[in-house]
Amino acid sequence: MTQKRIYNFSAGPSMLPLPVLEKAAAELLNYNGSGMSVMEMSHRSKFFEEIIQSAESLMRKVMNIPDNYRVLFLQGGASTQFAMVPLNLLASPEGTADYIVSGSFAKKAYEEAQKFSPNIKCAASTKAENFVRVPGQDELTLSPNADYVHICFNNTIYGTKYPYIPETGQVPLVADMSSCILSEPVDVSRFGLIYAGAQKNVAPAGVTIVIIRDDLLKEPLPGTPTMLTYKTQAENDSMYNTPPCYPIYICKLVLEWIEELGGLTALAERNQKKAALLYDYLDNSQLFQPVADKASRSIMNVTFRTGNPDLDAEFAKQSAAAGLSNLKGHRSVGGMRASIYNAMPYEGVQALVDFMQKFEQEHK
Ligand SMILES: *Cc1c(COP(=O)(O)O)cnc(C)c1O
Repeated sequence: MTQKRIYNFSAGPSMLPLPVLEKAAAELLNYNGSGMSVMEMSHRSKFFEEIIQSAESLMRKVMNIPDNYRVLFLQGGASTQFAMVPLNLLASPEGTADYIVSGSFAKKAYEEAQKFSPNIKCAASTKAENFVRVPGQDELTLSPNADYVHICFNNTIYGTKYPYIPETGQVPLVADMSSCILSEPVDVSRFGLIYAGAQKNVAPAGVTIVIIRDDLLKEPLPGTPTMLTYKTQAENDSMYNTPPCYPIYICKLVLEWIEELGGLTALAERNQKKAALLYDYLDNSQLFQPVADKASRSIMNVTFRTGNPDLDAEFAKQSAAAGLSNLKGHRSVGGMRASIYNAMPYEGVQALVDFMQKFEQEHK
């Protein structure tokens, strides 16, 4: 079975590490002598309590999360965070927040926040350039009295990532890290809140990671549903209701795998090598061009195109037939996109580059 596995370049849900899937398979029917699957057990059982506690402590260790931050395992995906952030972080229904619009998800977050206050501002946007880069610090128009600043750290669809962490002074910085969390070390203390839907780099779809600084666990706006209140979720250790047990269990296995590889420093090196292999080829290719500006390049999502939509379609078709799946770009960008998250091995990127070279030869 494992011999027939393909290289899956999907933007999400995406590949999980093979050792994690093997361990999950081995434990599927009888977890740790419990006589049942993790999918079948009470979330209040000692087995599951140990799973969620290990997931949290591993997350703290791997990401080097300071003690004054809480780690929450929520549901609803990153898209629910687009609402939860303003509901909990705006000081009032007239509160102010600055949004940096660097792509589709950043724009969705910005638009969702506008439902909760008339004072949601766009601090910078690269929409006029079709989001081929992220705005620089000198382009940001930040309000010193904002309740928070929101960024999307890695723009999954456009293949861009911030090469720097925006400086926001005393104003808490909130980051959507759905497609780059756990890809490299990050200084958590620079952020007030980090969130990520798990299905790109952490676990199957169903769990959303939220890392929030203690002082931001305050009363939400009036009328905020209980389930959307960070304070309640934190007070109940993410167990106000039934948490997404199985994705949390896989998250724990993924974190164990990261630790075994040597943590985020080792993983970042691996990821840099994979991305360099692909970008170096793209920079020298006569057929394919990279889409994102060099200074804003993501090492998780690599966008490229031939400039000829028919040829792009042919490439997507032929590559899929060769066992390299999901390379078609997002409809808003066109071309191709290779998502090369943590679980994509170097050999997978090598296989892609080999295939691209062959395709280039055949289409000179
Ligand atoms: C995938 C993605 C989302 C949407 O995530 P859901 O969990 O499907 O809501 C939001 N932001 C970014 C950066 C993403 O990559």
